[in-house]
Amino acid sequence: MRHFKVLGMPVHIHKNYSDWLAQRLQANQGTHVVTLNAEMTMQARKNRDLANVIQQAELVVPDGSGIVLYLRSRGEKIARCPGIELSEQVVKIAAENQWRIFLIGGAPDVIDTVVDSWRKQWADIAIAGTHHGYFDQAIEQQVCDRLQSSQPNLILIGLGVPRQELWIQKHRHLCPNAVWIGVGGSFDIWAGIKTRAPAWLSNNHLEWLYRLYQEPWRWRRMLSLPHFVWCVTKESLLNR
Ligand code: UDP
Repeated sequence: MRHFKVLGMPVHIHKNYSDWLAQRLQANQGTHVVTLNAEMTMQARKNRDLANVIQQAELVVPDGSGIVLYLRSRGEKIARCPGIELSEQVVKIAAENQWRIFLIGGAPDVIDTVVDSWRKQWADIAIAGTHHGYFDQAIEQQVCDRLQSSQPNLILIGLGVPRQELWIQKHRHLCPNAVWIGVGGSFDIWAGIKTRAPAWLSNNHLEWLYRLYQEPWRWRRMLSLPHFVWCVTKESLLNR
């Protein structure tokens, strides 16, 4: 595993992340996976708690084009590792090995649809539990109790950034041997509520444009992207 920094945030480069995670699952080695993009990097510059979580995660993959372009501009020939694809690969491995999966996040019907579709794909998939992502403190305590008593191997948390990263850090002691992945809006995509950008946009580093088209209310959050470019440019000029 090679380690890099993007504006102070770690990025880990490996030739096969899903194999690496399968080994961690097999060995019951507690792991937090962060899927880093430019938006999250800029959030972490303002949110010290989020920055700390990312810095402590065992695996930070280059999810976004901004991260990949940054590292390529510094001579590292790396490819994107979209978090949703990595999560799909790990779910497949877990399903085939009957490793137990717990899912938290998304709307109530969304999470049920995801589980139904996975059960169609893998009849033997071991779902240890699920809960949608709209809970108050009392329900949260029940979710934590269920997590602790079921001790799943793989836990997918889709509460959005930064809530899911902070949630994982706060609760990972409940299942210290599990692999925890913050999956953002992946449940919506797996349930068919939203779609991913077409390949021709992703291949040209324009996935953000598709997200803006699909969710125009994100425009304010997405102002962090030009800010990321500006910070990267400033860093390059200062390092000359
Ligand atoms: N979500 C949730 N509980 C909340 C707020 C959001 O479960 O209180 C879910 C929401 O339904 C969606 C995901 O979190 O499935 C956030 O998706 P988004 O694409 O915004 O993720 P991000 O870009 O923040 O990774």
